Amino acid sequence: MFRKHESDVLVAGAGPVGLFAALSLARRGVHTRVFDEAWREAKRAYGLALHPESLRLLRREGVLDQVLAKGRRIESIGYYQGPERRFELNFSEIPSEAYAVVLPQSQLETILADELHKRKNGVLWNHRVEHIQKDDGKMVTEVSRYTKVSGGYAYATSEWEIDATLTEKSQFIIGADGYNSAIRRELEISFPEIAPAETFAVFELETRDPSGTEARVVLDDDATSVLWPLPGNRWRWSFQIADLPDNGELREKRRSLFELESEASEAKKEEELMRLIRERAPWFKEAITAIDSTALVRFEKRLAESFGRDRAWLAGDAAHVTGPLGVRSMNAGLREAHVLAARMTRMLGQEESIDELEAAGRWQHEHWKRMLDLEKPEGVRDPWVQSRWGRIVGSIPASGTDLDPLLAQLRK
Ligand SMILES: Cc1cc2nc3c(=O)[nH]c(=O)nc-3n(C[C@H](O)[C@H](O)[C@H](O)COP(=O)(O)OP(=O)(O)OC[C@H]3O[C@@H](n4cnc5c(N)ncnc54)[C@H](O)[C@@H]3O)c2cc1C
Repeated sequence: MFRKHESDVLVAGAGPVGLFAALSLARRGVHTRVFDEAWREAKRAYGLALHPESLRLLRREGVLDQVLAKGRRIESIGYYQGPERRFELNFSEIPSEAYAVVLPQSQLETILADELHKRKNGVLWNHRVEHIQKDDGKMVTEVSRYTKVSGGYAYATSEWEIDATLTEKSQFIIGADGYNSAIRRELEISFPEIAPAETFAVFELETRDPSGTEARVVLDDDATSVLWPLPGNRWRWSFQIADLPDNGELREKRRSLFELESEASEAKKEEELMRLIRERAPWFKEAITAIDSTALVRFEKRLAESFGRDRAWLAGDAAHVTGPLGVRSMNAGLREAHVLAARMTRMLGQEESIDELEAAGRWQHEHWKRMLDLEKPEGVRDPWVQSRWGRIVGSIPASGTDLDPLLAQLRK
């Protein structure tokens, strides 16, 4: 079955970035179609913290109150080396929204999807964007719609198969389709690695008492660990697992960590967590009542050679991926989505030319590169801070000019 539709903007991907782009467009009255290959919004809790800049954007789109009602404010970050607390950074000097908010990604996605739905612009789940081309000045996108079919005789089975192919015409495309972006591939934009990947053992846990408003970062010689307080009595510990040389004792440690992902028993997971806390954060004395999830996650660091061209542009993980500490990729993605939505709206109203979109795309790319350059110390007196500068800056959940008062605290 073949179907044809027209819209102003097609958004590929309904993760946080695609949903935010779609909501920003819908609020400006732009006719938008949003497709996601998954069967529903994600249940994942991956990207956690919203930067002050993202909070201001969420306020503009009318959803900040919902985010604050469900999230946990972070007002400071404590920095440690093993047992020793070295210093803290305070968000209070940021001119507005002087805090970050921890909110599991799944909850942010639900808030955005519900708000979009209220504007009668729901996501088309089970729809995979396959190919794009330009025809007569418009973008033409081929989308496969999947449906579940049941089968099997001895026991019931179900599989997904394509039941329709849609031809979507639009003035613009936003590719917010994540790490394996089909839009990026269709535009033939390369996605090179810009720094070595990092691996983290991630634990989400519950404690008897509520978690506070301070995130904590442990900067050991060869590994960084981060503790995020989550809403309620919950926490997330992410321990970087440095690349271990392959010799006897260390190989044993590595093997036991990899078991976290498999069928390791609850007792084994608890043993691993307690070992890591003992070694890296002996000050963490909370009474743990449950370990909710464990995972070993590898984070690549990649940057697309450009963020798009002409009428098709990338945002979020489709354009860049990095380590988990400062939650930068998702937050930069929200800003990129906002800029694309605003520019495309103006172009649709004939208030701007395509050149402005090209300029914005180049600026976003440069901005990401500049942010990486920030990771070089300048004017830093304390040798301990100087030797860990990149890791410290990379762990701060803030971006753009919001970083200035925080970096000034580091330079004191
Ligand atoms: C296991 C894991 C743990 C993570 N932990 C952290 C963390 O601790 N801190 C942190 O900052 N970040 C973390 N991240 C990264 C964070 O989740 C991303 O930065 C964030 O999700 C980016 O949002 P996005 O909307 O750009 O992309 P995504 O959230 O990846 O959304 C892309 C969407 O596009 C859809 N899609 C893909 N291809 C197509 C297609 N062809 N057609 C239609 N739809 C398509 C996907 O189904 C998906 O819903 C983690 C990621 C993973 C995988």
